[in-house]
Amino acid sequence: MKKHNFYAGPSILPDFTIEETAKGVKNLDNIGLSVMEISHRSKEFTAIIQEAQQLFKELLNIPDGYSVLFLGGGASLQFCMVPYNLMNKKSAYLNTGSWATKAIKEAHLFGEVDEVGSSKDKNFNYIPRGYTVPADADYFHITTNNTIYGTEIREDYDVNIPLVADMSSDIFSRPVDVSKYAIIYGGAQKNLAPAGVTFVIIKNDILGNVDRQIPTMLDYNTHIKKESLFNTPPVLPIYAALHTLRWLKNMGGVKEMEKINLEKANMLYEEIERNKLFQGTVPNKEDRSIMNVTFVMNDEYQELEKEFLNFATEHNMVGVKGHRSVGGFRASIYNAMPKESVEALIAIMQDFEKKH
Ligand SMILES: *Cc1c(COP(=O)(O)O)cnc(C)c1O
Repeated sequence: MKKHNFYAGPSILPDFTIEETAKGVKNLDNIGLSVMEISHRSKEFTAIIQEAQQLFKELLNIPDGYSVLFLGGGASLQFCMVPYNLMNKKSAYLNTGSWATKAIKEAHLFGEVDEVGSSKDKNFNYIPRGYTVPADADYFHITTNNTIYGTEIREDYDVNIPLVADMSSDIFSRPVDVSKYAIIYGGAQKNLAPAGVTFVIIKNDILGNVDRQIPTMLDYNTHIKKESLFNTPPVLPIYAALHTLRWLKNMGGVKEMEKINLEKANMLYEEIERNKLFQGTVPNKEDRSIMNVTFVMNDEYQELEKEFLNFATEHNMVGVKGHRSVGGFRASIYNAMPKESVEALIAIMQDFEKKH
């Protein structure tokens, strides 16, 4: 029996993605070869990467003038590529958690960094508001979903300088107005594909404004010009991503996905609020993530934490343990998570409450 998979990343993928990818690993479209043993320049792989790029554009309604890249190095390499390619003297960052903090650290290598807002004072349990983005910064960087802390920015900000977003853990969870962003990037292993590929959606005319020399592999222009085929891209994860994108389209696209995601998240948040044993870690409802739901035992039930984790394990669930920097529990309920798994988690929370 398949487990209820609440892992934060790498994480659950649609059954369709796993089954179709497995077929291609054995025999790609009956050509008598595995997808793992063909050239990245073959006509078969060309068709795969082009359809994946096309579906990105279609599903996210990406305007003309943008490129979709599939690169290596993870979102973490983008922490350095973004300032390398965009930052002349100064950049602005919103600090909403560990990933944002890591991005800020890299930016410091390239110039002045204005940390316009931070929620560090409350262990990143809210999204800062009311700050000013400096007009003379080269770009403003945000992390839309804070995977560890369970907070999320679910709106597309209006700013007067180029906006850059790490959307590793909420890409394709809702419609996004891509025209408001200069760059959207993320590791694929939360909502799209197995680990190994990083997507970058980039506005082509945002480049070319820095004086420094950029190493070939770290220069976005290299990958734009060669359509992600300058060097060997992560062939197998891109193939898997293609199936997730086909699945998404078949599900009705991101608008439909958002509806399902809201339904799943609201169900779980309501139970956390109702259940006497638990409390959520993000007080402001607007800031709560619909991808990673973080909660802890209520103060008087702290000693039951380990028992609840064991209870979840006994009920065929994995990944419910919270990240060490928040503690308690985290249920990652990405696109591929069926509603039934969320209902199963709610059911064991209710059973556990009855026991105590
Ligand atoms: C997981 C994650 C990362 C790190 O991604 P890697 O691909 O491992 O480098 C960065 N940002 C966010 C928001 C994440 O959830």
